[in-house]
Amino acid sequence: MQVFYADQFVLPLPTGHRFPMGKYRLLRDRLAEELPEIRLAQARPATDGELALVHTPAYIQAIADGSVDPKILREIGFPWSQAMAERARRSVGATIAACRTAFEQGVAANIAGGTHHAYPDRGGGFCVFNDAAVAARLMQAERVRTQRAPLRVAVIDLDVHQGNGTARIFRDDPTVFTLSLHGQKNFPFRKEASDLDVDLPDGTGDDAYLHALERALDELAHRFDPGLVIYLAGADPHEGDRLGRLKLTWDGLEARDRRVFDWAWQRGVPLAFAMAGGYGHRLEDTVQVQVNTFAVALAYARRWHNRPR
Ligand SMILES: [Zn+2]
Repeated sequence: MQVFYADQFVLPLPTGHRFPMGKYRLLRDRLAEELPEIRLAQARPATDGELALVHTPAYIQAIADGSVDPKILREIGFPWSQAMAERARRSVGATIAACRTAFEQGVAANIAGGTHHAYPDRGGGFCVFNDAAVAARLMQAERVRTQRAPLRVAVIDLDVHQGNGTARIFRDDPTVFTLSLHGQKNFPFRKEASDLDVDLPDGTGDDAYLHALERALDELAHRFDPGLVIYLAGADPHEGDRLGRLKLTWDGLEARDRRVFDWAWQRGVPLAFAMAGGYGHRLEDTVQVQVNTFAVALAYARRWHNRPR
């Protein structure tokens, strides 16, 4: 299974900053050590033209040259730097690369990404550009160019926070289905309308969560027939998360992942996934959730590899 990363571009953050930047490197090291079937590759950065499939030219330029409105920067939560701009671009590039690879191999991943709070003209909540949205639009454009056929994309967003940016970007677009399962009382406090939103109360545990997921995937199957799934496998529904407010266990999250991969596998739909959020009291707990996601993904990647053609 092919996995793309951009963690050599580390954001310089002030000491004590609450974003766990170290998790990406830790995750990559653990994958290299524990899941040697995973092939790690650097992604190229997304171009201005690719970003402009979703983002406004003015915002792309402002992120590139550091002239971004201080108010927007405060909402993003990162200080601007060259490295911040480069990393944001690389992370979009990694999701693009994962989608392209998924078409060939069934399953592929971005070791970062899932920056679903980014809107066309502004970022927020540790998100600069919306990688899943840019990748979805680019894959659609490429499909039309090469096969003269439309591509329908389902974004399955299981980060604990609502995918508000993604929902807004595709609000009037019937070719992209946005599904978000999230904490009702969690950030963002003003939510957008996804094609399907599932609000979960604080303290939701494995059984209630998996039941809600099952119903949501059933509804998705009734309403939409995707040619690509982009899965945001947030680690923040875990009970050890500082920001999550839900109570999923390791096993619950693994069952969640298995269910999503299975849904795509049963329909023969390629799936690209990104990490999205994770803010464990212990960094290692967040990384463990993510390592588990990769282990599940690897099993499905093998199935794709061995399937009869
Ligand atoms: Zn989140």
